Amino acid sequence: MAAKPLRIVLLGPPGAGKGTQAQKLVSHYKVPQLSTGDILRAERKAGTDIGKQAQAAMDSGKLVPDDLILKLVERELAKGITGYILDGFPRTIPQAEALDKMLSSRTMPLEKAIELTADYDEITRRATGRRSCPNATCGAMYHVDSNPPKKANVCDKCQTPLVQRVDDKAETVVKRLEEYEAKTAPLRPFYESSGRLARVNGVGAIDDIFNRITAAIGHS
Ligand code: AMP
Repeated sequence: MAAKPLRIVLLGPPGAGKGTQAQKLVSHYKVPQLSTGDILRAERKAGTDIGKQAQAAMDSGKLVPDDLILKLVERELAKGITGYILDGFPRTIPQAEALDKMLSSRTMPLEKAIELTADYDEITRRATGRRSCPNATCGAMYHVDSNPPKKANVCDKCQTPLVQRVDDKAETVVKRLEEYEAKTAPLRPFYESSGRLARVNGVGAIDDIFNRITAAIGHS
């Protein structure tokens, strides 16, 4: 019998390493990653109405309104996926409630919410050191300390000069952490009370964290 497709949410403050781990989970479990942050950045790049509506909130480290996000997620789920790794979504209780409804109507309910934990000093260090490749077909990610490119500020894979996301600047990181505490941290009791929360220490080597996540998931 084919293995059940993985269906998880990755929770954790911005800079906790969700994107990095999501990429590894995608290749291990062969299910797509759905990152609302990546989708929004692509919408902005393409100059769509959604992208324009999201721009101001994103650049100041605030959350984009729930209705806009839910529209995007509906659109992605309608593409016919059966498993998923949700990264950066849900971020509010209304989003989590709407997600449960969308998934149960598609009979692909969420198995687990994996929360990556890290303290805020570590997170600030990680987020402000993060660099990414702006080439849309590449998107490789680096960190100036823990995962530097071979040549400073140049992508190893496609040689494109790397960029720092506007929302990874120090003052915006502080705002994003405040938004996380106020609006996203309440998801912890939300998933815990329904027996779906697993907390994973998000500090350490990337492969060690990955092994902790797969152990928490508990199936191949
Ligand atoms: P991320 O790459 O997940 O950190 O997202 C970057 C920015 O996009 C966030 O700081 C928000 O402004 C916006 N964003 C991404 N996902 C969501 C979401 N689920 N709800 C509200 N805003 C979001």
